[in-house]
Amino acid sequence: MTAAARLRPEPRRPGSTTPRARHAPQPTSAVAAAPAPHLADPAAVAAATDGQVAIVQARLLEWYGAQGRDLPWRHTRDPYAILVAEVMLQQTQVDRVIPKWQAWLAQFPTLTDLAEASRADVIRAWQGLGYNLRAVRLHAIARAATARYGGQLPSDLDALLSLPGIGRYTAGAIASFAFEQPVAMVDTNIRRVLSRVFWGTPPTASPEPAAREVQALADAVLPQPGPTAYAWNQALMDLGATTCRAQQPLCLVCPLLGVCRAQAGLPHLQPAGRPATAAGRRATAAARPRPKQPPFEQTDRYLRGRIVDAVRALEPGQVLARRHLAARLPAHTPDRLDRLLHALAADGLIGLAPNGSIRLPS
Ligand code: SF4
Repeated sequence: MTAAARLRPEPRRPGSTTPRARHAPQPTSAVAAAPAPHLADPAAVAAATDGQVAIVQARLLEWYGAQGRDLPWRHTRDPYAILVAEVMLQQTQVDRVIPKWQAWLAQFPTLTDLAEASRADVIRAWQGLGYNLRAVRLHAIARAATARYGGQLPSDLDALLSLPGIGRYTAGAIASFAFEQPVAMVDTNIRRVLSRVFWGTPPTASPEPAAREVQALADAVLPQPGPTAYAWNQALMDLGATTCRAQQPLCLVCPLLGVCRAQAGLPHLQPAGRPATAAGRRATAAARPRPKQPPFEQTDRYLRGRIVDAVRALEPGQVLARRHLAARLPAHTPDRLDRLLHALAADGLIGLAPNGSIRLPS
């Protein structure tokens, strides 16, 4: 079955059908030169998409071979090391993850080492990465995989998905990046790139295409076999991180210029009425009414992070009296602190003693 045959005919999306037909730059391929497919016609979509898929694959893989990022987790096929990288990268930028990933693997070199560590040590080791719940999730995955699979992560997608805390993206990343299986996965970058390239989704599309729809597209355009799929998945991530950026895609230097159905960064393809200059766009954005957000220091997320930081700084065996903790926190009421403490305890990030003192979980 061809890639196009596996593609469902995509639904019409606002703004997705006309820009290339109206404004196509100098055609650089048979796909770009062909008339824009009428998206209500599955045969036309299939015909255009087959040619487009082949060109996109070839160009993106060539670009990745020349310009792919040299990231340390791309030098290993250890599923555990890749799991750690993927969990860290979910909400933290690459530059901050690199030294933390290296330090983590020095402290917990194997899945079994992590499973045997105390929860307190795991939370301490996560310091500086934020979103501490990820440390608890990683620890739980290590313990479950050690109990079920003798300290190894399985290569099978369903077996990976059966582990607590592993979702479709992470399972796909392990299957592809550790075991070089021809498996597609969708994260924020991949969703943006694929939906722009094949559907022409404009940069401000609202709502964004659903993850399920984009997963079907990712499955359909995945090259075979596994090693090629590995490079393809990494290339999509790199293109999304460096070129096909969320706000200002760099279409003029993109390897997919001419075969992408969005090419949203080209000035003459900007939606009608968009201010032409950066200053104009800033003024328009500033004038736009926004829902009022509380300062970050007043959010639950901030307070949760400060509470975990406070107990993380304790010596092993030490506890923190609630009144001392309360004195360090801004803008909270006793009820709010109660709620946050109980939520953190339920998440496994702190331990609460009957007298109200706080410690790291054992
Ligand atoms: S950077 Fe532009 S041309 Fe490249 S994939 Fe994104 S929208 Fe398409």
